[in-house]
Amino acid sequence: MPAKKDQPATKGGARKPRKRLGLAGRVAMIAVAAAFVAALAQWVVTPILAQGEIRNQRHIAVTSGANLLADVARVHAEAGHWAEIPTLVNALSNGLPEGQSAVFDANWKLLAIDGVDAPLPARATLDELVKDPNGIFKTGERFYAARPIIAHGEAFGYALYSFEPRPFVNTWIMVVTLNAIVLSLFLLVIAPLIYRLARHALKPVTDLERRIRQRDAKDKSKLADSSDDRLLKPLLTAIDDVHERSEAAMRRALALAYTDPVTRLPNRLRFLSRLDATMAAGGEAYLAICDLDRFRQVNVTFGPRVADLALAVVGERLRAAASATGITSLFLGRIGADQFGILMPGATQDSVKACLSAAREAVSEAISVEGHTLRVTASFGAARAPQDAQSGGDLLKQAEVALKEAKREASRGIAFFDQSLLDRARAQSRLEEELRDGLDRGEFVAVFQPKVKFETGELVGAEALARWRRPDGAIVSPGVFIPIAEDLGLIAKLGKQVMRDACFAAAGWNRRGIISSVAVNVSPHQFDDPDFVGSVYRALDESGLPAELLELEITESAAVADPDRVARIMWPLRNRGVRLAIDDFGTGHSNFAAITRLPFDVFKIDQQFVRALSTDPHAPAIVEMILAMAEALGQETVAEGVETKEQADFLLRRACTIGQGYYYSPPLPADEFDAFVRSYRPRPADRFAA
Ligand code: C2E
Ligand code: MG
Ligand code: MG
Repeated sequence: MPAKKDQPATKGGARKPRKRLGLAGRVAMIAVAAAFVAALAQWVVTPILAQGEIRNQRHIAVTSGANLLADVARVHAEAGHWAEIPTLVNALSNGLPEGQSAVFDANWKLLAIDGVDAPLPARATLDELVKDPNGIFKTGERFYAARPIIAHGEAFGYALYSFEPRPFVNTWIMVVTLNAIVLSLFLLVIAPLIYRLARHALKPVTDLERRIRQRDAKDKSKLADSSDDRLLKPLLTAIDDVHERSEAAMRRALALAYTDPVTRLPNRLRFLSRLDATMAAGGEAYLAICDLDRFRQVNVTFGPRVADLALAVVGERLRAAASATGITSLFLGRIGADQFGILMPGATQDSVKACLSAAREAVSEAISVEGHTLRVTASFGAARAPQDAQSGGDLLKQAEVALKEAKREASRGIAFFDQSLLDRARAQSRLEEELRDGLDRGEFVAVFQPKVKFETGELVGAEALARWRRPDGAIVSPGVFIPIAEDLGLIAKLGKQVMRDACFAAAGWNRRGIISSVAVNVSPHQFDDPDFVGSVYRALDESGLPAELLELEITESAAVADPDRVARIMWPLRNRGVRLAIDDFGTGHSNFAAITRLPFDVFKIDQQFVRALSTDPHAPAIVEMILAMAEALGQETVAEGVETKEQADFLLRRACTIGQGYYYSPPLPADEFDAFVRSYRPRPADRFAA
């Protein structure tokens, strides 16, 4: 794998991390680079600036050459050695290298020439040239100067000198090369010296840099105290200031990251890290989870603001209850929307029990916030370290297992973890898994229990009841799987399957003219499904069952828990003709006023009253009361769990219209139900039986 760009190269990797230059190294490098740049600038600028001077020097050179030639020739002429002119020219040429010397007579006849081979200017040019004592003629790169040779006041002839200077670029390159070599050698010698000087000069800064790097979060000393340097001191004070401010900001950010803003308690993150630290330290500790029961309802009813304030009150009460029961070492945190964690290192089981009972009681006291009074209850699950778990995460899991147990009615809101709970929890999750699969595989079917009109004994309808037929043939009753399906959020899917089964079965009977209505049980959780009403319409439309022949049963307890919601969802169905029954009536501690506002057509008297008719002396009175009320409201009554003829007779006498129970038939699978209906002999109840 290639090493990442910003990671140091590994041993196996070819590239070594580049060593970064220190401060002094950088200063030395800057000095060397500056020297080079300065030299470069000089090399470029010098020839430009020196251009005029160079031209001047060339003029001087060519005129001096011509003057010298003319002067020497003049001396020769005056001495009468005119014939030696060629020798003279030769001798002078040696002294004026790279040039060309020539001497002419008074008629411009060439007498002698020597030096490099170059063309002579035209006669007219030469004539012009000798007239000007400073005259220079340039052709190509070559410069010419000519002077008259005058001896004894008489013109003997002319001297011409010319030369072509070496190209300037060549000279420049040569100079620059030499210069560069000298400069490099010089810098090579001087650079270490600069480096040492820079190191020395920057020592206070590098020392400071090291101190800042080595400084850890706990070091509260001020950098400014460590230096009296006039330049550094203000800088250090500024650094100290920035450091302090960033520390404070960091502290604030940490507090926000680890504190729950609603209750001001440590949040889940902080609680879990404390839990881990406690576990790592060893020793005994109890962890309890406090879970508020149905807190969602508080949110829905009073809104999130009131719910938040209530949570803060609960937090305070938990703390107060714990300290009142003598638990000194306590760490409390909010670990979920409606959950608190209570960590009690070193506590005994008795003190934890006392603490949780007190906390449960304290939480259940009425809470008054912003003019609202509300009540919440809490369940507590606790686990003990190191007996129940070795790590924080596991201890939390065990406490959750205990919490699940605490939520069961029998536990009265407080439970401690033990292995059997875990086994049960595992069996439960297996069952949950199987339920999911079973639902996908269509293992849930409806069975049908007939409903009979007491007076005539004729069949008037049936109630569809769900059954789980496991692959091994075992039949699971709804009392087991309905609550799980509700918990897992699968009840909507299951309910839809039963609804379709029931509607298709009833539509089939109806076509054959054998029976009329079908009743289907509806869980209040199904109301959470926005598609609920739509799914009922679809079942009716697709099966062809008239809406008047479908009856939906809602338990009394579900109906009174939120009557407005039930009414809101049920009205459209009822307007379409669907009938509504209140199931298990008599068990839901009804507020009768609320019940009568609901759009119900049928009361189903709970089977416990029917069963108690012969054993409990109060039962007949209760049943009579329910029947009287139903009659007054003009509603139909169905008695559940009719097992004997005596019960049927009694119920008929008390004006109950319909019965359902083993006396007529147990719930039957669809095909058996058909056979039952075909062979059915009506069994009317006897109003006058003793
Ligand atoms: P429920 O709606 O009150 O149904 C009546 C229960 O009484 C049924 O139990 C039925 O088998 C039983 N039963 C009928 N006649 C007699 C009798 O003569 N004696 C006795 N001892 N029991 C009798 P089941 O089928 O076990 O259903 C239990 C409960 O589960 C139902 O009570 C209903 O509340 C719920 N349930 C059943 N199917 C569904 C369903 O598809 N959806 C929903 N949400 N709940 C269902
Ligand atoms: Mg029912
Ligand atoms: Mg019932």
